[in-house]
Amino acid sequence: MSQYSESPSNFPAKLYIVATPIGNISDISYRAIETLQQVDLIAAEDTRHSGKLLSHYQIKKPMFALHDHNERERGKVLIEKIKAGQSVALISDAGTPLISDPGYHLVNECRAQGVDIVPIPGACATIAALSAAGLPTDRFSFEGFLPAKEKGKQDKLNALIEETRTMVFYESPRRIIDTVQQIINIFGADRKLVIARELTKTFESFYAKSASEMLTWLNEDTNHCRGEFVLMVAGAVIDSDAIPQVALNTLKLLKEQLPLKKAAALTAQIHSQKKNTLYKWGLENL
Ligand code: SAM
Repeated sequence: MSQYSESPSNFPAKLYIVATPIGNISDISYRAIETLQQVDLIAAEDTRHSGKLLSHYQIKKPMFALHDHNERERGKVLIEKIKAGQSVALISDAGTPLISDPGYHLVNECRAQGVDIVPIPGACATIAALSAAGLPTDRFSFEGFLPAKEKGKQDKLNALIEETRTMVFYESPRRIIDTVQQIINIFGADRKLVIARELTKTFESFYAKSASEMLTWLNEDTNHCRGEFVLMVAGAVIDSDAIPQVALNTLKLLKEQLPLKKAAALTAQIHSQKKNTLYKWGLENL
């Protein structure tokens, strides 16, 4: 039971974090529907968008807009409502709230103020994608959306160069080609990628290819870049005898301006590698 008084609907006055479908409207739990039917108020990212889901399940409840740009202010209002005895559900446009969606500030503040928070689990594009990708799932790193600007994206990928866990990115159709190109530049052309496209929808599909093959495939047909994407990247294989990718990237860059011998010597100094090994690699690959 909540520490606050009961709401008018007799449903415990708490914040319920309710996962909704990511495409297939049937992907919602009984408990999620029961919760949405019983709470006093539903906070949603886009009330019009969520209104369609709610009307499909014949749920009629007062709605409250809470999105990235008003979350801190509107969150305070919601917390006051819960403290006054109302039960509130938070939903996002798709999937699990807070996962690349609004809700973090609200939940953080509820925790700080001792307001009970109840997760009602369900669909999440990351988990659905990983569950069918065939990449290691014992450990993974959820990276959300990469920065839109080139420099920010490159910095972020460079910071992940030695990540050995499977990495999961959300990506938009407009940026997928550039992102795969940057992955080739930074992680190398052979890194294994899996794209999960249009999960749970009619044209759901998975593509598992090396980064360079994936780029070719994406460029083959504009239809290949349509829809919603989860991009999964196999973790780096760290071979203690191999030259680290970051050193190879430096060597490639320096080789554009300098003779190979000089480029290899400088790279060796920067990354504490063997000059001759780098030189040999350069002769064979650059
Ligand atoms: N909260 C959501 C979740 O639990 O996965 C994610 C919301 S985020 C704003 C939207 C991004 O998630 C999309 O741009 C796409 O990368 C990914 N996504 C959402 N639904 C998807 C689907 N049906 N298929 C593939 N990717 C999806």
